[in-house]
Amino acid sequence: MGSAKNDNLTCTGIGASPGVAIAPVWLTDRSRMVVEEELLELTALPGELARFAAARAAARDELVACRTQIAAVRGEEHLYIIDSHLMIFDDPLLSAETAGLIQSELLNAEGALRRTIRKFKEYFAAIDDEYLRERGSDIEIVGERILRQLLGRQQEPVSVVDGKVILVAHDLSPADILQIDKDKVIGIVTDLGGKTSHSAILARALEIPAVVGLEKVTGMLQTGDLLAIDGTTGTLVINPDPEAFQDYLDHKHHYEYLDRELAKLKDLPAVTPDGFRVSLKGNLEFQEEIPSLFGHGSEGVGLYRTEMLYFNRDTLPDEDEQFAVYADVVRRLSPLPVTIRTLDVGGDKFVAGLNLADELNPALGLRAIRLSLRNPETFLPQLKAILRASALGDVRIFFPMISGIGEIRQCKRLLAQAMAELRAAGQPFDEQIKVGIMIEIPSAVLIADLLAKEVDFFSVGTNDLIQYALAIDRTNEHLAHLYEPLHPAVLRALKIVVDAAHAAGIEACMCGEMAGDQLFLPVLLGLGFDELSMNAISIPRVKSILRRCPKAEAEKLVATLLTYSTAQEIEAHLKGEITSRFSASVD
Ligand code: PEP
Ligand code: MG
Repeated sequence: MGSAKNDNLTCTGIGASPGVAIAPVWLTDRSRMVVEEELLELTALPGELARFAAARAAARDELVACRTQIAAVRGEEHLYIIDSHLMIFDDPLLSAETAGLIQSELLNAEGALRRTIRKFKEYFAAIDDEYLRERGSDIEIVGERILRQLLGRQQEPVSVVDGKVILVAHDLSPADILQIDKDKVIGIVTDLGGKTSHSAILARALEIPAVVGLEKVTGMLQTGDLLAIDGTTGTLVINPDPEAFQDYLDHKHHYEYLDRELAKLKDLPAVTPDGFRVSLKGNLEFQEEIPSLFGHGSEGVGLYRTEMLYFNRDTLPDEDEQFAVYADVVRRLSPLPVTIRTLDVGGDKFVAGLNLADELNPALGLRAIRLSLRNPETFLPQLKAILRASALGDVRIFFPMISGIGEIRQCKRLLAQAMAELRAAGQPFDEQIKVGIMIEIPSAVLIADLLAKEVDFFSVGTNDLIQYALAIDRTNEHLAHLYEPLHPAVLRALKIVVDAAHAAGIEACMCGEMAGDQLFLPVLLGLGFDELSMNAISIPRVKSILRRCPKAEAEKLVATLLTYSTAQEIEAHLKGEITSRFSASVD
């Protein structure tokens, strides 16, 4: 047992994978290697360079061996993350920078590598985008493997754990997570990490509760301490007293009960008591999330964010590489539909190879479709890759950040060109592929009637629509209280969009975060949305309200809500209605 001074201490980190677990700690040493800088004699230089090259090769071999072992147990599904780490090994940047320091500063290999890792970490830490920022930790994980080789310190594999435990480490690599035996490791806790680190994504994919980003928790725990963790709220208690223990146990039972109840909804239709169907789909970013789509009863993918394929690399993916990934997603989802969005980067989402300039107002800058239309040489390969994937299943395509008619016509012209080139090359694709646009800019709302004549469907991106309609930066924590999805201006905007879509006989969908919040379901249903696409985990909760909420009542409710003047009045009325009329609580 650890020192009594931390007993019953509650710590808060980042909830990275939902669920509650109570078990003894298994502390594994993944601390950063302590390195002494030493100055070399000039004559020692060749030997030191060779020592570094040998350590790098040995660390790479070790990861290749891990890969083989993981492939044997888990199959190919998650291996691309390991492959991305192997690419970092092979990338000359890390080794050239380190070898350069050894030579120019006469530094020992450990010291030079530590400085190089720090430099890349700082470079990535300065990036605004959370996902990209986390990629700095991938470089660190690879660097630490080489450091361990240089220092002769072997890593204890996580597969050696005994009994049911919560695995605690300074940091865990994706390879660590993939080697976990789920029957033994029932929870994960780390000092480092964020919600979008690859390890967090894998923990969610494997459905192991995880709390990350606790900073110094490894220093407060020892193997054998009892730990209660909640991966939803990101809290944990060290050696809980009987009261705290009971709290977490109740919470665990409640969570598991809700999970079981909601799981029963998985195969039930998403239909209101008065027979109105709303298609409930999942948003997809990584192939790892596909099992979760099935596990939560998704009717397909309403938003496939393709930008993830472009991050964390030096060159752009070509048509064939993109096709391979889209094809895999489409095949695995088939016969369910997959709605693929073309590249939405720019602003603070940096992509190497696209020549993005520094901008004063990135959110209002060269983003999304503006960037694609400026770079037809990269846009056309993506259009062709998506079209080729359309031959393999039910694929729809749509474009982000459309602000006017000119842009969508340009997109359609390029799409026609991509089709002509594929036809000429004898490549099959769906000639009738449905084409849509994101509605996320106020100008698009105001001309929704005109845009509706140009496309087969609308998908409202409320994350951006709210930001642009209310002039609230969606990433600014100081303005979070003003980011109001129920602002009367937002509700009116949504109504204009749905009405314009239906007047033109096309589908009105929503794929912003608002679609996955059960509180908003009666509003979106009453407004008449045909499809809601959300984080897969939210689907059962949204469905549970939908199945109890008659459309006719939701329409009346919306008519009332549209008469209020503030978001606060609207929210108060809505919460009251949800608890009384639809006999559901909002938790
Ligand atoms: C949105 O803006 O609501 C949306 C779904 O797109 P993203 O969050 O990728 O900008
Ligand atoms: Mg958007």
